[in-house]
Amino acid sequence: MKKQNTDRANNNSGESQALSGQRILVTGGAGFIGSHVVDHLLMEGAQLIVVDNLTSSVATVGLLESWENAGTEIHSCSVSDYCHSSESVDYIIHLASIVGPLGVLGKVGRIASEIIESSLKMARLAIKHRAQLLFVSTSEIFGVPGRLDEESPCFFPASECSARREYAQSKLLAETVIQNLGSHGLRYQIVRPFNVTGPRQSPQGGFVLPRFVIQALSGLPITVYGHGLQSRAFTNVVDIVHGLMKILQRSESSVWNLGNESNKVTIGELAAQVVAQCPSEIMYVDPRILHGGSFAEAGDKIPNADKAQRLLGWSPCFDVHSTVAATLTYWRNNSALNHWAAILEKESKISSQTSKANLVADGIGSQ
Ligand code: UDP
Repeated sequence: MKKQNTDRANNNSGESQALSGQRILVTGGAGFIGSHVVDHLLMEGAQLIVVDNLTSSVATVGLLESWENAGTEIHSCSVSDYCHSSESVDYIIHLASIVGPLGVLGKVGRIASEIIESSLKMARLAIKHRAQLLFVSTSEIFGVPGRLDEESPCFFPASECSARREYAQSKLLAETVIQNLGSHGLRYQIVRPFNVTGPRQSPQGGFVLPRFVIQALSGLPITVYGHGLQSRAFTNVVDIVHGLMKILQRSESSVWNLGNESNKVTIGELAAQVVAQCPSEIMYVDPRILHGGSFAEAGDKIPNADKAQRLLGWSPCFDVHSTVAATLTYWRNNSALNHWAAILEKESKISSQTSKANLVADGIGSQ
């Protein structure tokens, strides 16, 4: 299994040779996906400008220093405060964004302006420099559960209002504006990643795998929300980066779903995989008790990434087992483990006040 992964990953690694020497602006470059993108592009010999306000940075001081030593310009500021020099860029990868079900909760009412303004600013910069813009959107834009392809309809009940919806619709609006700017000379690619996970993902936004892994490594119970029957298709960040690199080099503007459908699991099954590799107890909890009544659960989102597989030859190769293993290894050796364990321990005290028997089967992880 591991051998197969390595071989296929190596086959994917040659695709961005053409990016050598290209000047590439990466917003959100110190974040989870961004830091993997930066590492990959540096390996390919690109010249990078990284813009990141470092609020959810996962890049260590050592990593940032190694990027600087490799000639990367690092601007530690938000996209709105970033002043671009007159020097041209060839590509802009716009990743900077509020992320995660908990990340959005803290910014409700301010999510839309941040997403739209930063995306518009990057689109205008791309037009000015005749650069290609790669906008990293989200699978949340569909609003509905199901197996979703690029043309699937988006649907939001008119009366629903949640932080998650503000996030999803802002990303959708940003996609629309970017596509419409195509007629004003913008060359773009829009990518909707589905449940990306793996090493360097922070639990800060509330993402499930780093939470489960930190809980298991720290002897805390794993907090499965609801009955754990909700499902997601998890895609390893390494596979996503290879997809992004292939998409970046497309000349015709387009929209792409990126996700590994064959990694579909229920959250209960994901918890069982973590426990199998790092024994721990599983606890079923109501997320609204942990995070407040405005916590919103998304429907089951399953990617149909046939277009990327067909037109790009993109072939995700990391399964859930190997992704869990890599994430465990990352956190086992991470000096931030105790910091996050202390935060999750406080939660687990609240969690213990609820139990599976007390959960109201009202849609959170129930059938
Ligand atoms: N989840 C869970 N326990 C946690 C964190 C998340 O059971 O401690 C569940 C969550 O309810 C969701 C799934 O894991 O069904 C994926 O959550 P994540 O926030 O990673 O992604 P999203 O819900 O945005 O797809």
